[in-house]
Amino acid sequence: MRRLLLCSGGLDSSAVALLYSPEALLFVDYGQKARGREWKAVCHLSKLIHRPLIVRRVRPDYPCSHGYLPARNLLLLSVAIPAAERFGFGEIWFGFTKGEVYGDATAEWIDKANELLQTEGLRVKVVAPAVTLSDSELIIKACEQFGVRWLLKTYSCMSAPACGVCVKCHRRETFINHLIVELKEGLK
Ligand SMILES: [Zn+2]
Repeated sequence: MRRLLLCSGGLDSSAVALLYSPEALLFVDYGQKARGREWKAVCHLSKLIHRPLIVRRVRPDYPCSHGYLPARNLLLLSVAIPAAERFGFGEIWFGFTKGEVYGDATAEWIDKANELLQTEGLRVKVVAPAVTLSDSELIIKACEQFGVRWLLKTYSCMSAPACGVCVKCHRRETFINHLIVELKEGLK
């Protein structure tokens, strides 16, 4: 079964790409402010894991000036489905982890999405291979196998350049600092 991973170049989807080896990455440019930085991160990842990168572009209306897009993952899925059908992928992967706060990034959402695809008569399935792991477990596992350099090439913030104060920036910074300290300790 060929697997296509939706990838934004952030921590979780990058860790999933490293650990679970999808056959290709899909980047969606949906007009997000950070698309240029995300694109750079995804290009780097694609080269790192030696997998092709598929790109799709859509332009939804943003109801809020700060870049919040309701049902973002539903939009990404609807873009991924025809791409998967066209290139013969049997699974569309999301980089969700356990304990996500957003309703459209959970195991339950994946089950509902699959029900919907079945109702549509489609064979493609939606999978979140890391949904049983917490984000820390996923990222630490990826660092144990691939080192910490890949972390530095990820991009998580919704703004561009990175704001340095949002939850996503804080989370990325914490992981990087924590893991680099651990690595240095290990080298002593
Ligand atoms: Zn930020």
